[in-house]
Amino acid sequence: MDKKGQTIQQQSPRCRLVLFPLPLQGHINPMIQLANILHHKGFNISIIHTKYNFPNLSKYPHFTLYLIPDGLSESEASTTDIILLLKLLNEKCVEPFLDCLARLLSDDADDPIPCIITDAIWYFTQAVADNLNVPRIVLRTSSVGSLLAFAALPLLQDKGYLSWKNSEMDAPVVEFPPLKVKDIPTIETRNEEGPSQVIANMVEQTKKASGLIFNTFKELEEPEFDKLREQFLIPTFAIGPFHKYFSASAGSIWTQDRTSISWLDIQAPKSVIYVSFGSIAEMHEEKLNEVAWGLANSAQPFLWVVRPGLVNGSECLEILSKELLEAINRRGYIVKWAPQQEVLSHPATGGFWTHSGWNSTLESICEGVPTICSPFFGDQMVNSRYVNDIWKVGIMLEKGLERVEIESAIQKLMVGKEGEDMRKNITCMKEKIDLCLKPRGSSYQSLDNLVDFISSFRSPV
Ligand code: UDP
Repeated sequence: MDKKGQTIQQQSPRCRLVLFPLPLQGHINPMIQLANILHHKGFNISIIHTKYNFPNLSKYPHFTLYLIPDGLSESEASTTDIILLLKLLNEKCVEPFLDCLARLLSDDADDPIPCIITDAIWYFTQAVADNLNVPRIVLRTSSVGSLLAFAALPLLQDKGYLSWKNSEMDAPVVEFPPLKVKDIPTIETRNEEGPSQVIANMVEQTKKASGLIFNTFKELEEPEFDKLREQFLIPTFAIGPFHKYFSASAGSIWTQDRTSISWLDIQAPKSVIYVSFGSIAEMHEEKLNEVAWGLANSAQPFLWVVRPGLVNGSECLEILSKELLEAINRRGYIVKWAPQQEVLSHPATGGFWTHSGWNSTLESICEGVPTICSPFFGDQMVNSRYVNDIWKVGIMLEKGLERVEIESAIQKLMVGKEGEDMRKNITCMKEKIDLCLKPRGSSYQSLDNLVDFISSFRSPV
């Protein structure tokens, strides 16, 4: 097995598992990693995937793939409204998923299917699983803390937090420490009923599942697991970080620009700040300008992922002034998509300015790279607060994207005392991760428990 000495004994085939990833980069990666982990535990793997965002899975000849139509029109598929997209996918995939799964189940005599594993946001699949009498295990691809925050939204709404004024955003949410009002994981949408129904469906249908898998580890979120057990009365399995077993890169929707690694090769050790806001986040032109000025003024070398679509409707960099582009080119290197895990493990990388998506957060902790956090929406707000206040392995940009704060945060992280302290904290965490993946470690044991749990299901008749 490939990553950093982490070994799973390859076992002989047990039966077939059907996995259904949500077709967004930050959800595809962990589901494919989970598929690999379970394959090495002896399960045959079938993956059902929408036509939308179908990744190149040619590196996985050992998986059987089933492509289903998702019914999205061209304009629906290109929407940047994530809540609308999730709602549409959950409505339009019911029939194709049901048909595909029913066919697989009716044809499983030689290769029984004990259960299906679907992303928590595929909330419609619980009813399909019930209908076909097959257990559903949920993969939640973010932290336990963020799931609890989503589950608390109705309470926080009742308490009036969601209508607080801008001037009150830094007030604490007393019912949900360590969150501040601005960290409550809401998501802007044009959907008439707002984000609440999609989020409530995700939470409620997860509670009805047979089991719940997390890409996290027990030692990172111990108090959160205690709270989770009070609200989610199903077996839970914290078996992460997944990418310590298998790299994320093979499930990439975009081509990773490897010149970023050659550029890092000629930089001084721990001198580079890597900047990426993940696969979905968007910003306005003036914010891109602030980011660019903050980086240019920081006097640190930087590797910046400027994904097409980061600024809606433009190729991004064309909107920056000539003067600014010259300043960027003096110290920076820009790519459209990077091999992130390799970048984070490169000796030249000393810090990561991130949107705090959960995969990015875990990947940076595992590589011992402290972060600057600029959350955009949803779970990213919660992840950032934990990184800043609880784990103390990063700095949250409290004022948003402003060049002066950016420049000062980069200095603090890369050359200041704060950065040094964070590096110590993150090294401690990294050691805990290494232990949890070893025999008798928490994730190792939890994975064994998951395999036993899956094996305890009888194949449906
Ligand atoms: N990623 C990558 N190249 C990039 C930026 C991101 O390979 O240039 C990967 C990253 O390693 C992570 C995933 O894309 O596994 C992003 O997931 P995350 O949860 O951090 O954010 P999301 O994209 O879901 O907002």
